[in-house]
Amino acid sequence: MKRLNLLLLKIIYMLFYFVYIVSSRFEKNKKISKFFLKFNNYIVKKRVKERVGKVCVLLPHCIQNYNCIYKITSVTDNCRSCGECGIGDILKLKKTQGVDIKVVTGGTLARKHLKETKPYFVVAVACERDLISGIYDAFPLPVYGLFNKRPNGPCINTEMEAEEIEHILNEFRNG
Ligand code: SF4
Repeated sequence: MKRLNLLLLKIIYMLFYFVYIVSSRFEKNKKISKFFLKFNNYIVKKRVKERVGKVCVLLPHCIQNYNCIYKITSVTDNCRSCGECGIGDILKLKKTQGVDIKVVTGGTLARKHLKETKPYFVVAVACERDLISGIYDAFPLPVYGLFNKRPNGPCINTEMEAEEIEHILNEFRNG
């Protein structure tokens, strides 16, 4: 993407983010975050035509079963794929899709991982607040975002299906 286009895009992201922050006090916040995510994902699809380099999938720690004793934030291979949460199935994508998968406890760890591994494209799963700020912070790195599901409320036993991530990765694989 040309420098000028990137600069224009950065300005649009800044405006979106500003509106999002201001709207955080109001009910409309959810609608704005959904709209921003839709816009961002559309742009990411325009920018990343196909997978030609390292791809990273970022997952929030809250997808792991709350009672699980295995520490997967440092080494994901510690997961025993017991089926008590969605992590085991998502981790299978490491082999089938050839992607890097990192489970993070927050934005700082996510940023550190991206800085160290330097992917050219990211699929990130998180709640509205973390995802919107993460996408904004990571720009110009293309980050395709997916909101996790929260049937138990925020930050505990949240959900994301492996198929949903796989579907997105396949879309990029197919160009
Ligand atoms: S699938 Fe993995 S992370 Fe989830 S509860 Fe089982 S061992 Fe823990």
